Amino acid sequence: MSFLLPKNDGKLTIGIMGGTFDPIHIGHLVTAEEARQQFKLDYVIFMPTGNPPHKDKSQITDAEHRYLMTLLAVVDNPYFTVSRMEIDSKDTTYTIDTVRHFMKLYDSKLTLYFITGADAILDITTWKDYEILLKSCEFIAASRPGYSFSKLKAIMGNTFPEIIKRIHLLEIPAMAISSTFLRRRVAEGKTIRYLTPETVEQYIYKNRLYVK
Ligand code: ATP
Ligand code: MG
Repeated sequence: MSFLLPKNDGKLTIGIMGGTFDPIHIGHLVTAEEARQQFKLDYVIFMPTGNPPHKDKSQITDAEHRYLMTLLAVVDNPYFTVSRMEIDSKDTTYTIDTVRHFMKLYDSKLTLYFITGADAILDITTWKDYEILLKSCEFIAASRPGYSFSKLKAIMGNTFPEIIKRIHLLEIPAMAISSTFLRRRVAEGKTIRYLTPETVEQYIYKNRLYVK
C-alpha cells in the first residue's frame, strides 16, 4: 500500500475496515465515510478477509468475488481503497498481523484506527493477541441496530476497563442491514437496489451470486 500519500509533514492517518464483505453494502460505506470525516482519516482501507477464522469457510463466497465487489463499491471515493493483503495470504491472517504490517511500513509516522461495528468489537477478547492489538492501534466502534453503546460500555467497562479507553464510539445513521440480509434477499428474488452500489448489484447478478 505504498501508494498512500502522507501529508506534507510526513504523517499519515488511516482507518482499516476489516470484513467479509459478502457482499459490501451501504452500512459498511456509510460507516467508513463517517469515520473518515470524524477522525480526519487520510484514507480508509477496506480489507476483505481471506480465510476468516470466525466464519465457516464453506459458506463464504470466493475471496476474488468479494474483493472485486468491494473495489467496485469504493472506486469513486478518492479516500477509499481496498487491500488484497489478507485475501492473498496463504495463511489465516489475523487483525494483529495486518496492524503490525502497516506499523512496520510507516513506523512512527502512522496513526492507525481499526474500524468495526459495535457487534464486532464485542468479540474483541476472542481476537488473537487482543491485548497487544489494543495497545497497537485505536479502535472505532460504529453504532449498529441491535447493539447498544450502553451495553457495549457496560460489558467492556466492567470486565476490561483498559479496553474501553482505546475504543472510540461512532454514531452513524442507523441501518439495520447486513450482508446476510442482502444474500437472503437475492436468494428470495427480492430487490437489493439502493442497499449496495448499483455496480455491486450488477456484479452479483452477472455472476449469479447468492442464488440457491
Ligand atoms: P454478515 O451478515 O455476513 O456477518 P455484515 O453485514 O455483518 O455481514 P461484515 O463483513 O461481517 O458485514 O462486517 C464488516 C464490519 O462492518 C464489521 O465490523 C461490522 O460490525 C460492520 N458493519 C456491517 N454492517 C454494518 C451496519 N449496518 N452498521 C454498522 N456497522 C456495520
Ligand atoms: Mg458480520
